[in-house]
Amino acid sequence: MSFKPAYKRILLKISGECFCRNREGGISMSEVGAVSEQIRKVAESGVQLAIVCGGGNILRGKQFSAVSAAIQPATAHYMGMLATIINGLALHDALENIGVPTRLQTAIRMESVAEPFIRRRCIRHLEKNRVVILSGGTGSPFVTTDTAAALRSREIEADALLKATRVDGIYSEDPEKNPHAVRYSEISYQDVLTKRLGVMDLQAVHHCMEGKIPIVVFNYLREGNVERAVAGERIGTLVHGQAQSV
Ligand code: UDP
Repeated sequence: MSFKPAYKRILLKISGECFCRNREGGISMSEVGAVSEQIRKVAESGVQLAIVCGGGNILRGKQFSAVSAAIQPATAHYMGMLATIINGLALHDALENIGVPTRLQTAIRMESVAEPFIRRRCIRHLEKNRVVILSGGTGSPFVTTDTAAALRSREIEADALLKATRVDGIYSEDPEKNPHAVRYSEISYQDVLTKRLGVMDLQAVHHCMEGKIPIVVFNYLREGNVERAVAGERIGTLVHGQAQSV
């Protein structure tokens, strides 16, 4: 049975960690297959779905350039963007393998591999109920795919940005370091920015605040959570314009 989506159009951000086994890196097609199954159920609900994929399972520019003076920071970030395209290719095939009509677009032109990102074309695919994977981040170095997700959410006029992670939401402190850290069920953009809370890049939060796009940060590893987030159920942490409540 399909569920009723709470939104017309959403942007789902899936981090690189969704493409590999816990703390392993690289790509595991069984992990990609598992997340694809959740995406299939969401796509079948009729919601328009764009996906921004991360690349941290392969390479993060900041970390990679820090280990050797030989690599220029911008080069390392381009490598990170290419990593997101590798993930995009894997996700594209995994989704089509289970019958989900999908298109892959890249922010760095690569016509023999995928379509370039063209806003109107992306929206047209969404209107035809094709899932659109947006890879290559923003196409510019020195930012992360969280920022790409926030910018693309604004461009395609998504009703919400859903960030799938391996943590249950946004906490007052890092829960791995402090077991007494509190998870916010709801928090304002301004509080996330002022308290400099982790889990999401602050530039991304700023863009969503300007664009009035609610963000839901949730744990995709809990079975059915992607559907719950799309159905508007209260899971994880909702970041929006309202005042904070814990
Ligand atoms: N990146 C970039 N510009 C972008 C998006 C990503 O330079 O617009 C690079 C950046 O180096 C980043 C890497 O690509 O570290 C992989 O993306 P990210 O770290 O956001 O992946 P995630 O943490 O979501 O797996």
